[in-house]
Formats: sequence, C-alpha cells, structure tokens
Amino acid sequence: MPDQTKIDELKANLRGRLIAKGDDSYDESRKVYNGMINKHPALIVYCVDVADVITCVNFGRENKMLTAIRGGGHNGGGLGICDDGLVIDLSNIKYTRVDPKNKTVRAGGGCVWSDVDHATHAFGMATPSGIIGSTGVGGLTLGGGIGHLTRHCGLAIDNLLEADLVLADGSFVTASEKENPDLFWAIRGGGGNFGIITSFLFRLHPISMVYGGPVLYELGETKKVMQWYRKFILDAPNELNGFFAFLTVPPGPPFPEHLHGKKLCGIVWAYTGDMGNAEKVFKPIRDFLKPALDFAGPMPHPVIQGMFDALFVPGMQWYWSADFVKEISDKAIDAHIEFADKMPPGFSTMHLYPINGAAAKVGKNDTPWAYRDAVWAQVMVGVDPDPANKEVITKWTKEYFDALHPFSAGGAYVNFMMEEGEDRIKATYKDNYERLSKIKKKYDPNNFFKVNQNIKPAA
Ligand SMILES: Cc1cc2nc3c(=O)[nH]c(=O)nc-3n(C[C@H](O)[C@H](O)[C@H](O)COP(=O)(O)OP(=O)(O)OC[C@H]3O[C@@H](n4cnc5c(N)ncnc54)[C@H](O)[C@@H]3O)c2cc1C
Repeated sequence: MPDQTKIDELKANLRGRLIAKGDDSYDESRKVYNGMINKHPALIVYCVDVADVITCVNFGRENKMLTAIRGGGHNGGGLGICDDGLVIDLSNIKYTRVDPKNKTVRAGGGCVWSDVDHATHAFGMATPSGIIGSTGVGGLTLGGGIGHLTRHCGLAIDNLLEADLVLADGSFVTASEKENPDLFWAIRGGGGNFGIITSFLFRLHPISMVYGGPVLYELGETKKVMQWYRKFILDAPNELNGFFAFLTVPPGPPFPEHLHGKKLCGIVWAYTGDMGNAEKVFKPIRDFLKPALDFAGPMPHPVIQGMFDALFVPGMQWYWSADFVKEISDKAIDAHIEFADKMPPGFSTMHLYPINGAAAKVGKNDTPWAYRDAVWAQVMVGVDPDPANKEVITKWTKEYFDALHPFSAGGAYVNFMMEEGEDRIKATYKDNYERLSKIKKKYDPNNFFKVNQNIKPAA
C-alpha cells in the first residue's frame, strides 16, 4: 500500500474522485452488481478522462498494486473489483457520438448499453449488445457480446471497428484492423487482459423497431417446446432471434394474475427484419402450440433492450454457470426438466442463447471467440434478493450445471463464468489461447491486468 504522500500526489493529479477506505462513500463505491461480492479495495478512482486512466495505470504499476478495471460492474464473478488494490472505475467516461453518414457509434469506455441504445435509436439504428441495459459496454464487448441481434448482426465484437486503449506501461494506442491488428484481434473476446479501453467504435445497423417479447408455455410442455425449438432455430431466418428460458412469472402487472409466481418455459423472440413480414414470421411460432402467455409484438428497439431491467436490479445475490452447446438431446431435455422443477422461486433462470446465424459466419480463429460452431451459449443463473438464500441458489446452479455439462461442447462464454480457473479459460479459447498468450506477453508482459478471466503472458 503506497504511503499517504503518494496517495495525496495521485489525488492532486486527477480530475476524477478518489475514494479510500474510511471515506463516507467507500461502502457505496465498492458495491458491484452481484450482491454476493464483498471486496474491500484500498483505493477507488472514478476516472473522468484518458489522462486519469493513464495516471491510475502508472500509479498502480509503480506501486505494485493489484489493479482492477470496472466498467458496468456487472461481472458475475466480481472481476471489476479487488481486495486491497486499486479500482480504476470508468463509469464517468460516458459519452456517445453517432455518425449517421458512416453508420457508426463511438461510446466512452464507461458507457452501459442503455446509453448506446438511447443514442443510436434517435438515428433509427442499433448495434448488437446484451439483453439488460445496465450491463457495461466494456466487459460485455471484450468478452464477446450476445443479445437479441446476435443471429441478425453477429456478436458485439463482430461489430467493433476500433478501440482506444491505455496499455500496462501507461501508453495510449488505437487498435483496429489497420492499427495494431494483433491487439485488435485479441480484444475481440480476450477480455480486459490487454489494456483499458477508453473508447469503442461500433458499426450500426438500420434497426429501429423490433417485433418481439416472451412467448411462454406451461412447464409441463417443456419437452415439446424444447424439441420444437432446437430444430426451429436452426432453420429460422437470421433476422429472428429467440433465446429459450425457464422463469418464474413476476407477481405483478403486466402479467395476468393467474400466472403470478408460476414457473414457465418459453422463448424470448426478437425479429428485426421487415416489420411488414413479422406476422408471417411468427405464424409457425403461433401455430406450433397455444402459449400460456404471448407478449410478442412490435416495439422500439430500446424497449426490448430494457424489458428485463426492472426485474434484474443491482444488488441481488447472483451465481451462474455456463457452457457452449452444439445440440440439445432428449436426455439433456430430461435433465433440464428436472432442474426447472427444482428452480428456486423468484428470479433464478436458465437461458439458451442462440449463437448461430450471423455470429456463426465468422471464422473460429478470426477472433479469440473459438466456439463459432456451437449453436447455443447456455447459462443457468441462480438469483435471489435475500443473502440468506445464497447457498440455495448456488447449490441449484452447480448441480444443474453438473447434470448438463456432459451434454456440452466443453468451454463456456467467458462473460457467463465465475472465477473457475485456468483450465476452464483454456477450454474456452481452445487453439486461440496460445496466440492470446503471445499477444499478452507483447502488451502486458508482467500481467498487470490480471483481475479478469486471465490469460497468462507466454513464457
Ligand atoms: C444482469 C446481467 C445481464 C447480462 N446479460 C448479458 C447478455 O445479454 N449478453 C452478454 O453477452 N452478457 C451478458 N451479461 C454478462 C456480461 O457481459 C458480463 O458480466 C460482463 O463482464 C459485464 O461487463 P461490465 O463492464 O458491466 O462488468 P465489470 O464487472 O465492470 O467488468 C467485467 C470485466 O471486464 C473488464 N472491463 C470492463 N470494462 C473494461 C474496459 N473499458 N476496458 C478494459 N476492461 C474492461 C473488467 O476489468 C472485468 O474484468 C450479463 C450480466 C448481468 C449481470
């Protein structure tokens, strides 16, 4: 821990706020999205610009402090924060600039997705992101980025055109296909291992309206629904995304009273093609089986992006486990049914996000995201507002994962992992790990950025 003189010096060199242990807002400042994470950093700096980020990186490195980068703070394993070290918080580096002519959006390194959706929708455009507006652009993008537009437009990384970074030695670089292409390759899936991204540039698509929402069925219909869905999504047009989910219906409007607190299965659809065709596209979905609830309809893109935000608020207990999946066998369906029955009430859920369509058109070595041949990113999520239920949700998630893991493709989406060790990280990047490790050696030889799904610098 650096002495007070050094900390005072750091403070004097910053435009942003520095929070230390003992400060009034310390406990509030060390909170992250997952209420299960309870870490006590020595210092938290709310950077406001690139200069602050450079100052912090130099300070952390020179004083040999464990240093974490916090974007949206949503990481399940709490990788945006650390014990005893320095947290470089980016949440005040928040700006967007849409370039309608070139169809791009620039977003500050601390933006969350609702910031970007808000900005781009005014121009009738959108870029692929996740399904919750409060998730950080930083962490989600650097890990891949799966959402409602995945089948139509690819992952978030497939739409990243350029990024500005502060490297471990405090230098500032731009990464794109033309500038530092090795670094640009690595950040498209390799997480926060290579530097702090202070600015992202994304490609935009002419998507303004979405025809979508949840179409849900009785839990007793799970087998029929999953068997139908596993085939349907393989042949569906790319403009139609639909992730499978188990959930408990929230006890309030707009849900009908007779369904309150009931477990259902179903698909959250998002069609982003020609709105005039939407009813036709949904006809086979509606013909297949009468749902318990059909909330699918036309809505502006930011509405579907924010649809679950009020449900999944920050501060809840959160434990998740993930795998990539290539096929959903009948035996896997039986295991899903068993654990859907056991699903803790309230907020826990299981999602199967399709990653075929446009995301599968990118080669498995074109970015570090190796599982381009998988069809789904599966995640079982134990969620509960009450810390007393922490063990219950964790146990359910772990047992569910163990039961389904034998049916999986091996690795998992890094953004749906807790801290699960090096083997899991290697299984996820497969043959891209070695290349990542060499690039890590070039840009961060001493592994300064290690509070992440860590890629070790090559020997
Ligand atoms: C409610 C919820 C919904 C989610 N939905 C989706 C979804 O639909 N699709 C999806 O793909 N993922 C989803 N995720 C997973 C999400 O992508 C990861 O949790 C991700 O790590 C969150 O990024 P963050 O910036 O908010 O997190 P943080 O905790 O701030 O950071 C996560 C990691 O990224 C690094 N990092 C963050 N910003 C930067 C930056 N600017 N430069 C360098 N490194 C940085 C951090 O160091 C850390 O290692 C969801 C998570 C939650 C909790």
